[in-house]
Amino acid sequence: MLQKREKVLLLRTFQGRTLRIVREHYLRPCVPCHSPLCPQPAACSHDGKLLSNDVTHYVIPDWKVVQDYLEILEFPELKGIIFMQTACQAVQHQRGRRQYNKLRNLLKDARHDCILFANEFQQCCYLPRERGESMEKWQTRSIYNAAVWYYHHCQDRMPIVMVTEDEEAIQQYGSETEGVFVISFKGILNVNKHRAQIEAFVRLQGASSKDSDLVSDILIHGMKARNRSIHGDVVVVELLPKNEWKGRTVALCENDCDDKASGESPSEPMPTGRVVGILQKNWRDYVVTFPSKEEVQSQGKNAQKILVTPWDYRIPKIRISTQQAETLQDFRVVVRIDSWESTSVYPNGHFVRVLGRIGDLEGEIATILVENSISVIPFSEAQMCEMPVNTPENPWKVSPEEEQKRKDLRKSHLVFSIDPKGCEDVDDTLSVRTLNNGNLELGVHIADVTHFVAPNSYIDIEARTRATTYYLADRRYDMLPSVLSADLCSLLGGVDRYAVSIMWELDKASYEIKKVWYGRTIIRSAYKLFYEAAQELLDGNLSVVDDIPEFKDLDEKSRQAKLEELVWAIGKLTDIARHVRAKRDGCGALELEGVEVRVQLDDKKNIHDLIPKQPLEVHETVAECMILANHWVAKKIWESFPHQALLRQHPPPHQEFFSELRECAKAKGFFIDTRSNKTLADSLDNANDPHDPIVNRLLRSMATQAMSNALYFSTGSCAEEEFHHYGESYHIPMCGCNFALVTLKEFLFILIFCFLFEGLALDKYTHFTSPIRRYSDIVVHRLLMAAISKDKKMEIKGNLFSNKDLEELCRHINNRNRAAQHSQKQSTELFQCMYFKDKDPATEERCISDGVIYSIRANGVLVFIPRFGIKGAAYLKNKDGLVISCGPDSCSEWKPGSLQRFQNKITSTTTDGESVTFHLFDHVTVRISIQVSRCHSDTTRLEIISNKPYKIPNTELIHQSSPLLKSELVKEVTKSVEEAQLAQEVKVNIIQEEYQEYCQTKGRSLYTLLEEIRDLALLDVSNNYGI
Ligand SMILES: [Zn+2]
Repeated sequence: MLQKREKVLLLRTFQGRTLRIVREHYLRPCVPCHSPLCPQPAACSHDGKLLSNDVTHYVIPDWKVVQDYLEILEFPELKGIIFMQTACQAVQHQRGRRQYNKLRNLLKDARHDCILFANEFQQCCYLPRERGESMEKWQTRSIYNAAVWYYHHCQDRMPIVMVTEDEEAIQQYGSETEGVFVISFKGILNVNKHRAQIEAFVRLQGASSKDSDLVSDILIHGMKARNRSIHGDVVVVELLPKNEWKGRTVALCENDCDDKASGESPSEPMPTGRVVGILQKNWRDYVVTFPSKEEVQSQGKNAQKILVTPWDYRIPKIRISTQQAETLQDFRVVVRIDSWESTSVYPNGHFVRVLGRIGDLEGEIATILVENSISVIPFSEAQMCEMPVNTPENPWKVSPEEEQKRKDLRKSHLVFSIDPKGCEDVDDTLSVRTLNNGNLELGVHIADVTHFVAPNSYIDIEARTRATTYYLADRRYDMLPSVLSADLCSLLGGVDRYAVSIMWELDKASYEIKKVWYGRTIIRSAYKLFYEAAQELLDGNLSVVDDIPEFKDLDEKSRQAKLEELVWAIGKLTDIARHVRAKRDGCGALELEGVEVRVQLDDKKNIHDLIPKQPLEVHETVAECMILANHWVAKKIWESFPHQALLRQHPPPHQEFFSELRECAKAKGFFIDTRSNKTLADSLDNANDPHDPIVNRLLRSMATQAMSNALYFSTGSCAEEEFHHYGESYHIPMCGCNFALVTLKEFLFILIFCFLFEGLALDKYTHFTSPIRRYSDIVVHRLLMAAISKDKKMEIKGNLFSNKDLEELCRHINNRNRAAQHSQKQSTELFQCMYFKDKDPATEERCISDGVIYSIRANGVLVFIPRFGIKGAAYLKNKDGLVISCGPDSCSEWKPGSLQRFQNKITSTTTDGESVTFHLFDHVTVRISIQVSRCHSDTTRLEIISNKPYKIPNTELIHQSSPLLKSELVKEVTKSVEEAQLAQEVKVNIIQEEYQEYCQTKGRSLYTLLEEIRDLALLDVSNNYGI
């Protein structure tokens, strides 16, 4: 019995017109299935090709996959492919004759294990298109429906993998039919740097972060399965049958260890696959090291082909043709990969340039920059020509035109800034005053960077490329030239500046927001305060005015009046901030750990103690005002441009980190409730060991890690429900350095708060308050200006990004922010290593310190050292297979034996029966040493030398045994760096010049730097110590 149907086709002609064609269409009960598993071969009347018997599943590509990745589907490695008629017709109608012929040839080719299934003629498979359903959706639905039919037709004996790029389809069908998997086959290859030879993962696209409980990664085990793809490549993956799945390794391991040095106990088997094709090569410049002379000799006769080792563990060795191997052996060198032959174990590449000598500060910093694809050449002449002039002979002035256009706050408002001491680039100021009607007016005034940076000007393009100011441990690379960042856009005290302001009218009693005004202004900041001074004023300690330069040359009377005015303003601001905060606290503001440690010196100037520093209340006041401004701007630009506004979003927390946090807390008898931010905040507050404050800090730092990094996105690319802003990190500065991602105001003090609850719904958030150092804020300023301008709307709108371009830009900014975080972390570690490098761990007291165990692994523990802020792995089993043993004097020794790991402890038992157990949160004594690496960065090594907390021996005087003299420390590190610099001058001069060009700004004392290193420690970017 045949059923007649009509099918409407819309074809596009060569002239671009759309042609409507109605086709008659007959449905049959049987069409050839071409499967050897067919239960009714006679009815199916197979002729021609049959699918192979030798497959573990069939692959059904969605129509879009057939259109876009036919080249991949042509790979002979891919077997058991069923092309649905629907998909083939989509190619025919939308991709033209050539592509369609390719597909037909593929189907005819006997060597390819693929068949055509005429699903639209099969009466159970055919689905009419529904009213209002798009062609695309209907095609995907038809193909899925046919896949399910096919699965059942083969009597559920052969699993089917439908491959699609449609995330909605993955969501919708992914778990609908058992045996029919709907996945994307495309993802980014991510090599595990601790097991670069064996472990890589591919996170498939479409595996949305929503199901973070779900393991969405596919394990690629071994180099062969990686099929010449390199870390970062976009690859196509084929799943292996379940009996070939493997587990990931959980033991600690060293970076350069052999494949299985200590790789016991892999975890549960996880989806495992192999790479069948590379869609996009993400090759970049790689820093490599040439082999030493001895190694070259051992590499054999083919001396012109040299295998070089990339600095990044995740990149395979590269074969370079060069005669210069010997001259280059002491340098860090940039190379590029050209090709990777299928017959070769290694890719081929060529030499690009020399960066510097191995181990030199400048060479190593240059390495970090290249490895993070950070290019910071000095601003060009063309770019500088666009900059305004401000010199003593030719001072910059407010122009009369701007005076006309802008609201002038110079006389009416007391504007001031609160920043860390010595801050050069002030991008935000505050004001508060009482209005005539008795209400209050709160103002946040941000540097008007976009006044000076025109869209698509040279400087705009450069700032966009950089995306952020990069802060390395000892220097920074500015996003904008200093004439803007440190001068004309810096809202310094006593000078006229352009600003973009947001002002709220607040009810005098309830502080409820009555009105809000946005616009361009002219301000003159009256005071450039630093945090500590502002706090003193707030606390009523007025003697601090002597430290505030603005009060210097005033007569007593006006000084008194001005002081009163300022104290009132700071007090009022704090009051408002407290109020806003209290309102938020009520629904679960979450304060997480960002360590700030204060160095306490005794009378002899010895470091006496490191005390976690209580953030000043005035920090919170400023942060609160900035949060408010960011939120209100987000709201405004989203309302005006719902499809092309740049907002900020926090992906949901990583549940697996939360479960680790819960387990850890349990070890100390605490219960952490992660159901909501409110319960999390409360239970973290309660998880306080009165004898050991470190416990709470470590738990908070784990919670911090569970919160995924916030990302920028375009509102057009995301449904409104997904805007959810789980929490924003706010860091408050200590001494002028900061993270690239956050402003000075946001350093080291993390305030995560909650938007999940109705009522307070601060659900939209963006970055508006730091346009000097973040390109995102520049985009947001332009959006805001377009949103509030009435007359010239069209003209300004022309300068805005479309949703698609903005999405692309967000991706770029997010990527650059990650690079900024990584480079900061890596440069910090570089300095840590340089500090310990020339110390003999066997004799130097400072190499021995107290450490706290914060994680248990199969063959060791992870230890945090509060004194230096170092986190790292300490092995309990060494390379020779000996285990740690602590005698009655608690000193450790290596002996034969075995380890037994439990939930929150690990026990080492020697063959002669001694045993020692290490618990989570135990204090132990560790020795810090540096593992020097020629090809990679040096790393700190931790060795447990006693299972007891570190005690300063009583017999010695405190200032001898306990921490270093401050002056001594500064002298020491400065000296070694100076020596390095001296040595450098003697070396290759060209390289030296290049370095100097690189460093646009430099400065700050090394002492400050080392303090920061300590502080940064808990804020790890990548929490992977061999996980
Ligand atoms: Zn059949």
